Amino acid sequence: AKDMGRNTFQLFQPEMNTSVGARLSLERRLRRALRDGEFLLHYQPQVDIGTGRIVGMEALVRWHDPEVGLVPPSAFIPVAEESGLIGPLSEWVLREACRQNKAWQDEGLPPARVSVNLSARQFQQRDIAKLVMSILEETGLEPRYLELELTESTIMRNAEEAVIMLNELHALGIGLAIDDFGTGYSSLSYLKRFPVDRLKIDRSFVSDIGDSSDDETITSAIIALAHSLDLQVIAEGVETAAQLDFLKARACHEMQGYYFARPMPQDAIPQLLERDRGR
Ligand code: C2E
Ligand code: CA
Ligand code: CA
Ligand code: CA
Repeated sequence: AKDMGRNTFQLFQPEMNTSVGARLSLERRLRRALRDGEFLLHYQPQVDIGTGRIVGMEALVRWHDPEVGLVPPSAFIPVAEESGLIGPLSEWVLREACRQNKAWQDEGLPPARVSVNLSARQFQQRDIAKLVMSILEETGLEPRYLELELTESTIMRNAEEAVIMLNELHALGIGLAIDDFGTGYSSLSYLKRFPVDRLKIDRSFVSDIGDSSDDETITSAIIALAHSLDLQVIAEGVETAAQLDFLKARACHEMQGYYFARPMPQDAIPQLLERDRGR
């Protein structure tokens, strides 16, 4: 134990992903985190480009690890997915997001929908609609104030099955959005069969508005596609006024990104919602 130098490892260094031992230790700590309530949600506003009002917010999970502080989802969602912990974690996220949103409404704040990310693993579970229904009943949140975000690749992995699951979810009266849109392969014929309400243009296209004419073309095409299919469309990762102007000129409905607000702790949300009351 005299020369620890070379053999000690830091949390979250790259080897973390490859070493089985490190993965197991992370898994153990995630289990503990679930048990001890170390997860929390940050919320990022989704804004109507026409009115400037907050119409929704995306719930983004964080882990407050007592040893390292706030850990971003990219550092633990993959391990949670591989280990099966994603089930209980997603259930917590869903319940907490619904509970919190209902609490804000009960305080008399202007209502806004809350969007929750659903991982591929969870979408594969056949009883997801039942779970969503029981959480809505338990929390008393009206279905129209909940939206689920599913990535294009999650949906297209098994498109036939997805049509059935999406129909079950949609029948509950909640909203459905296709996340990271444009990065996968959706055939247009499927898009027409999916009962989705919203396309979410991936950040990789939005961030290059002004720099890459290809990405501008893709962004414009997705907005036009949404309009012609009568879907809502939101752009994620909007960071500049120029990006916002581009989107506005093409009648993109909503935007989300650092330009308006970063994801923030729940305590910061009431004041933001309150500000919209007079508008
Ligand atoms: P996502 O669903 O694409 O979420 C958007 C990510 O972009 C968030 O990162 C957000 O903080 C970031 N972002 C938002 N606006 C901007 C911007 O203007 N510029 C830049 N550079 N980034 C922006 P975050 O919170 O680290 O989440 C990363 C990913 O982790 C999410 O990507 C989502 O796939 C996953 N995730 C987050 N929360 C959950 C959850 O509760 N369940 C599941 N299954 N996945 C989650
Ligand atoms: Ca998302
Ligand atoms: Ca994205
Ligand atoms: Ca790009």
